Amino acid sequence: MTENELFKRINAIAQSCDYKIYVVGGFVRDKILGKPGKDIDFVVVGDAMKFATVLKKELKIKTLVQYPRFGTFMANYKGYSLEFVNAREESYDFNSRNPVTKQADLLTDLSRRDFTINTLAMDISEENFGAVIDVYNGREDIKKGIIRTPLEPGKTFSDDPLRMMRAIRFASRFKFEIEQDTFEAITKNAERLAIISVERIQDEFNKILMADVPSFGLRLLEECGLLKQFLPEAIVMKGVEQKKEFHHKDVFYHTLEVIDNLAKTSNKLELRLAGLFHDIAKPRTKRFVEATGWTFHGHEVVGERMARAILKRLKYSNEIIDYVKKLVRLHLRPMALISDEVTDSAMRRLLFLAGNEFDDLMILCRADITSKNPNRVKRYLGNYEYLLKKVVEVEERDRIRNFQPPVNGQEIMAIFNCKPGRLIGEVKKFVEEAILDGEVENDHDACIKFILDNKNRFE
Ligand code: ATP
Ligand code: MG
Repeated sequence: MTENELFKRINAIAQSCDYKIYVVGGFVRDKILGKPGKDIDFVVVGDAMKFATVLKKELKIKTLVQYPRFGTFMANYKGYSLEFVNAREESYDFNSRNPVTKQADLLTDLSRRDFTINTLAMDISEENFGAVIDVYNGREDIKKGIIRTPLEPGKTFSDDPLRMMRAIRFASRFKFEIEQDTFEAITKNAERLAIISVERIQDEFNKILMADVPSFGLRLLEECGLLKQFLPEAIVMKGVEQKKEFHHKDVFYHTLEVIDNLAKTSNKLELRLAGLFHDIAKPRTKRFVEATGWTFHGHEVVGERMARAILKRLKYSNEIIDYVKKLVRLHLRPMALISDEVTDSAMRRLLFLAGNEFDDLMILCRADITSKNPNRVKRYLGNYEYLLKKVVEVEERDRIRNFQPPVNGQEIMAIFNCKPGRLIGEVKKFVEEAILDGEVENDHDACIKFILDNKNRFE
């Protein structure tokens, strides 16, 4: 079913209820940008909840998700995801972002929307099918690439502070500029973000991180003071110091470059988060050592702890937290392997520790190279390439990445003629270490023999 067929059908159903219905917001904006999507928002001038019942029956939709309190409902239909909302007017209480709403006409509804580029409505009635209603010059702002609020920006952001995050999200997605008064109002109201739930902040932040060039939005977040509201630890990374002839590069801008590099090779949110946190503890662990210069000893360990605490505070899932912790903890390891004489056992240990995240760890390490010296970049990349080749060899031989102990507890109990207990764990660990050190092959029979040969150690 084409969009137009869908719109005509929906309009006919609305007409049968004596309601007017329009397509609004993101869909109209994206269509003008030449990227029509499958997420379509409608505004119903009438009773959206009554309309829900009729629409469900007419289109034979199995399930609708309804929020009568907000006068909105959602449905999936023929590959489209449709959202319907009552045309409404909102009034806000200063201490909360849950507005009191009442039904209103289309134009009032459009005026409460966040940005001019999102205020466009498309008529889908028979008489005016396709006509765009553009009260706030949204089309012009789309053409010029400008984010601005339809009404006074200070009021818009104070009413619903999440709009400040949305402004930056849209700016980074489309590479649009935030108009000056609008940006100033964000700067003035940044502290109001405190009344927004962390889940909604996280959601917008993720979208900013997922832009093609994440640094675009991250810079804006920093400039207007929003980043400080939910991620003050990142601001501390800003700044460089010079002592004697030693200066270190600005960790914040280095971090942004790393995230941009990651965005070029991967679409994983969690990998971008790992990029964001890989050097988070550098400010805290920074020391100046005479003759050597700046050091950041242990920043991967402290960083892992900080990443965990911050991500927990921002309510990321445990899977994401574990992933980021692992990458932060291990991000120096591959480089360390290169500077040493690479032994097979060191590589086996790294594979063992990184497990399924090994490939992502290597992506992070490559992205971490932000030197402006092309020879140096080439040398580092070459080093990693060499390391990877060696790792593939070790991997093929030893199957360490998804390590499963080759000997099970039953077998150990049989060898020692013992009951379940501490000994089993000790023997398993002993075998695991021996495999990693290359003393025994990662093979069932070889390991059984190895245990038998070393049996007296445990008696
Ligand atoms: P996306 O492509 O991300 O879906 P969108 O513009 O469709 O972008 P939605 O969050 O789906 O954004 O919201 C749909 C429309 O509702 C927006 O275009 C905007 O007009 C309006 N809107 C959404 N959230 C707000 C808000 N917090 N304040 C004011 N208007 C909003
Ligand atoms: Mg939408």
